[in-house]
Amino acid sequence: PRKRGLPEKLFKVIIIGDPTVGKTSFIQRYVQNSFARDYKGTVGVDFALKVLHWYDSQVIKLQLWDIAGQERFTWMTRVYYKDAHGCVIMFDLSNKNSFENTLKWKKDLDSKCSLADGSPVPCMLLANKCDLQDRKIDMTEIEKFHKDNNFIGWTETSAKEGLMVNDSMRFLVEVMMQNE
Ligand code: GDP
Ligand code: MG
Repeated sequence: PRKRGLPEKLFKVIIIGDPTVGKTSFIQRYVQNSFARDYKGTVGVDFALKVLHWYDSQVIKLQLWDIAGQERFTWMTRVYYKDAHGCVIMFDLSNKNSFENTLKWKKDLDSKCSLADGSPVPCMLLANKCDLQDRKIDMTEIEKFHKDNNFIGWTETSAKEGLMVNDSMRFLVEVMMQNE
């Protein structure tokens, strides 16, 4: 008998970056299309599932891993990164330090995990809180930085306003699909 329904794919996507850059808010916006001003700083790893209908021919399930308060415990990350298909590294446009630390996050990722064929895990760089006025990092600097450090792409986002949230994830999914 024919299988019913569309073929499905499951991808593990991890979201990393310094505390308070907006990782949890981004996931909430993407999965539930909502924004809350304050989240409790829960400790542990949270999961969220986003189901996408991809070109009407396939269902994609994204298992989103939110590092939830473990950001300082870098020894945690090996377990967390295991078998990831894609990654988002986020910083806050109003926090220069969070931008500089994205390099540490990228190096941590690349040193602890890779795809099954040995290639690096595709990684998007997201410049969150673009709704704020006090930007501390120049666009040209981000552009150069993302190329120099092998990110697949970068964009400004606002989890608050819902700007470029779907589009940035769609770009990552395209790349993960090409890697299949
Ligand atoms: P996390 O620690 O990286 O998970 O960051 P949270 O999602 O908990 O967000 C930290 C704080 O930044 C919260 O007060 C959020 O409401 C706020 N925040 C998150 N995203 C945005 C955004 O796009 N714009 C603005 N203005 N604030 C945001
Ligand atoms: Mg969080």
